[in-house]
Amino acid sequence: MDKQKETIEKRPPVVVIMGHIDHGKSTLLDYIRKSNIVEGETGGITQRISAYEVLHKNEHGAEEKITFIDTPGHEAFSKMRERGAQIADIAILIVSAEDGVKPQTIEAWKTIVESKIPVIVAINKIDRPVANIEKTKTELAENEIYLENYGGTIPFAEISAKEGTGIDTLLSLILILAEVENFTANPQTDATGFVLEANLDPKRGIEATLIIKNGYVKSGMTVAVEDTICSTRIMENFLGKMIKEATFSSPIRIIGFNNMPHVGGEFKAFAKKSDAEEYAKNWKEGTINATQSKQGEQSDKKIIPIMLKADVAGSLEAIEKEIQKIQHENAEFKIVAKGVGPITLSDIKNLSTDGDILIIGFNVNIDRSATEEAERRGVDISSFNIIYKMTEWLEEQMERLRPKIETVEVTGRVKIIRAFSRTKERQILGGKVTEGVINLNSIVKIMRRDFEIGRGKLVNLEQGKLKTSTVTEGLEFGMMIESKIEIVTGDVLESFSVMQK
Ligand code: GDP
Repeated sequence: MDKQKETIEKRPPVVVIMGHIDHGKSTLLDYIRKSNIVEGETGGITQRISAYEVLHKNEHGAEEKITFIDTPGHEAFSKMRERGAQIADIAILIVSAEDGVKPQTIEAWKTIVESKIPVIVAINKIDRPVANIEKTKTELAENEIYLENYGGTIPFAEISAKEGTGIDTLLSLILILAEVENFTANPQTDATGFVLEANLDPKRGIEATLIIKNGYVKSGMTVAVEDTICSTRIMENFLGKMIKEATFSSPIRIIGFNNMPHVGGEFKAFAKKSDAEEYAKNWKEGTINATQSKQGEQSDKKIIPIMLKADVAGSLEAIEKEIQKIQHENAEFKIVAKGVGPITLSDIKNLSTDGDILIIGFNVNIDRSATEEAERRGVDISSFNIIYKMTEWLEEQMERLRPKIETVEVTGRVKIIRAFSRTKERQILGGKVTEGVINLNSIVKIMRRDFEIGRGKLVNLEQGKLKTSTVTEGLEFGMMIESKIEIVTGDVLESFSVMQK
């Protein structure tokens, strides 16, 4: 019998806004953020994270939290779904009363239905003179989106994201729906949740925004996302303020991942770093399971094993010292076996590892049977009789075997000046190269408010109606880009190269 009764608390809803381009997703997100943010703190934030929390009074007059995913377009959301992540609890389908139901409205609707999350429809732009609310409702019904009192049960609000009309009602509807759905979580367990975005900050390192769906995280814990880990030493809330702890359904940003975590990947927080490492290791080996047992300090570094045989004890010691000196920030040698005398068959047979192990003989003979066995196992035996030759060789091996560190360098930046047209995955845009150069067929990061929101491929470049393969700094040009993301005026495209160091 399970004696430990789980503590269960109400969990604030996580909301995503979806809909056709230009129907007002960003405007709505901006309005809600500006008018309802917790503590009214908005100043001084240089790098906002792509989710925020607001407070709103429920029907009983008590303030409750709502978390909004602040990534217009449903790219992030779709990515999560692909990975099976249930990040959002409620979707808002926004439809402009001016334009009515459009292709992406239907696309968004399908996504929502497939992910089986409850939905609220926001009929937007009701302040516009040409807005036609009734016509919009009819179009929704024609597409089997049945609103309350219009043949269905979907709650809806008539709003103006620009002027703020109806936003209170919309927020109240969210809280009512959350109450009905009864979202809960356990405040006393180690946090789990999902990665909303991840990027490499050239100054700060790899950072990620996480949404906590259960439990708590506090500084000193280590977070694992699949096979990557990060300490919670630098943990920020959505305002970019350093925090020491957080719980559901807060967005947090942590900095210092050892590798780029997957967007949409599940994260788990561990009290012990070694448990997080164990989890990441198991994930890598494809043997992930819930057992988090192993204790003790483990190094972040790759271990390169060495077997060492030398002619006399004195040289063995001297060589060991030399080996210890050769270190790298992400790898180190470890002598797993050593001895005095020739390299024999049993030395090779006793090796527990193949592959990367280095077998070194210093001033010793190698038995023929040992050479044969080594060949069979695919390991090399190297012999030396001069120490510095051996250390030179070991330095080369370190370079060859250590994990490579990838650095991403921006090679060109483009500011989008105009968005002309868009079909499903292709857009025609006008832009200006503000930095570096841009080349045809390169993959670019799509940056919005300093955050990467997706990637695209430049499939055509034109200058003065002529096709070109390169555009340099200061020039304006037209482009066709392939991307699932809706790129809008003001976005920045970054081309980059990845270098291994
Ligand atoms: P998104 O592509 O869905 O994020 O749409 P935006 O939020 O960028 O809005 C597209 C355009 O519609 C912008 O020019 C907004 O100012 C405008 N807009 C959005 N909501 C409203 C609204 O409620 N009333 C009016 N009049 N304009 C709006």
